[in-house]
Amino acid sequence: MTQSTPYPIIDGAERKLASLGTMDLINPATEEVLATVPRCGAEEASEAARLSVEGFAQWSAMSPFDRSKIMRRTAELMRDEADEAAAEMTRQSGKPLVQARGEWLASADLLDWYAEEGRRAYGRLIPTRASDMRWTVQRRPVGPVAAFTPWNFPAWTVMQKVAPALAAGCSVVLKCAEETPGSGVRIGRALLAAGLPPRVLSVIWGDPAAISATLCAAPEIHKVTLTGSTRVGRLLASAAGQHLKKVTMELGGHNPVIIARDADLNSVVPLAAEFKFRNAGQVCVSPTRFLVEQPLYKDFVAGVTEAASKLRVGDGMNGDTQMGPLTTAGQLSKIEALAADAVQRGAKIETGGSRIGNRGYFFQPTVLSGMTPEMDAMNEEPFGPLMLVMPVEDIDAALAEANRLPYGLASYAFTNSLSTERKISEGINAGMLGLNHYVMAMPETPFGGVGDSGMGSEGGIEGMDAYLRPFLVSAKIA
Ligand code: NAD
Repeated sequence: MTQSTPYPIIDGAERKLASLGTMDLINPATEEVLATVPRCGAEEASEAARLSVEGFAQWSAMSPFDRSKIMRRTAELMRDEADEAAAEMTRQSGKPLVQARGEWLASADLLDWYAEEGRRAYGRLIPTRASDMRWTVQRRPVGPVAAFTPWNFPAWTVMQKVAPALAAGCSVVLKCAEETPGSGVRIGRALLAAGLPPRVLSVIWGDPAAISATLCAAPEIHKVTLTGSTRVGRLLASAAGQHLKKVTMELGGHNPVIIARDADLNSVVPLAAEFKFRNAGQVCVSPTRFLVEQPLYKDFVAGVTEAASKLRVGDGMNGDTQMGPLTTAGQLSKIEALAADAVQRGAKIETGGSRIGNRGYFFQPTVLSGMTPEMDAMNEEPFGPLMLVMPVEDIDAALAEANRLPYGLASYAFTNSLSTERKISEGINAGMLGLNHYVMAMPETPFGGVGDSGMGSEGGIEGMDAYLRPFLVSAKIA
């Protein structure tokens, strides 16, 4: 399999040198240096912002039909390189190969979906108050966009921004995560190969604070979109707000799962273990707080403990690995600290609880029972393989705990009762609710949170709306 070094892309060309020197990409499974890559800063961000103006003029003038052809061609090119792209993603992020491949192919599907959606950015004709008037509303692209993405889904989170932005006619300066720039670069290369005018997309990374300060302040940039932590969301939304730029913020969550007394544990247990430990728990919509009604509590804990202890943890490049390492050393120490705090405050480790070995950022799939609301892990987004289980007396108590935090991204509930289902969907405060399953992010459906989980939606028609603005022409026609 070919391995290629990712380089920043500016003006359609790969830059082998950058203003801030170089940085290393680390394989989280081995801690080996994968590659030494250029490190960009304010200089590259300013240049990319400047070029994005011309890119925007060219791209927004192109018909949606022609834009769509380039996007669909890109999706095909992406499918052709799925094996190489997945291997690179696994080496940089640690996630198992099968998950990396699935993410890459899903990102190509997402691009296809927006390629079509861009052709349906309909305006409207509004009935007027006088026969000699005509009110027309067009939907115009907002302008050049600065997009910031995290390392946990290095292709999907990029595509959630690039695809709708391009579909709407916007140019993009993409700052991908420093840990995992490979997928963003591959997407950029594929778009260029498919005929994207060179100035429509730049791909950079390096010093996040310098790049984001530059792009948020740049007069050329009209919108800032971030997928990342609530902490960085506050920074970027404030910086963009200073310049009155539009924002979309897809931030962290602490997603409750309510397991009602009538739920069927035969399906609830395997699903909980599968989705909790996917991507080592480093998923913004990962189920985190399992709130189990008392009658099922003991059996649920026993079931998930058995399932978690059987998971095969290892290098994602091995075909039989079910859970890889955490992506960064920082994540590993954070998870260790959260588990230790929970135990110190009375939680019980049913399985796991420790780092595996001393090379690679591996942590055991962990089930903690007897969780209580004051423990750190029940308040901070864990973003790791910790299944936190807490018994609840009834659905009202479960809803009170579910809604206790300022986050509101995904929520989940398992029940076979219609009235319980209705009670939960009416009572939960979140952007999304999964009933009897955990599948959330699809091209067709909106995805986003409330409160500290962010503002605005990606996915679905809402995802493209975020890159369009209404333009009214009020005409006297007589
Ligand atoms: P992060 O907030 O540390 O970084 C996100 C991006 O912002 C990176 O590209 C980072 O370099 C950049 N950034 C820009 N300015 C920055 C600054 N001044 N300081 C630091 N970084 C800056 O997030 P992460 O650790 O890469 O990703 C994990 C977080 O992302 C979790 O909180 C997770 O829940 C969230 N996430 C949310 C969604 C969603 O759709 N809601 C999806 C995936 C991940």
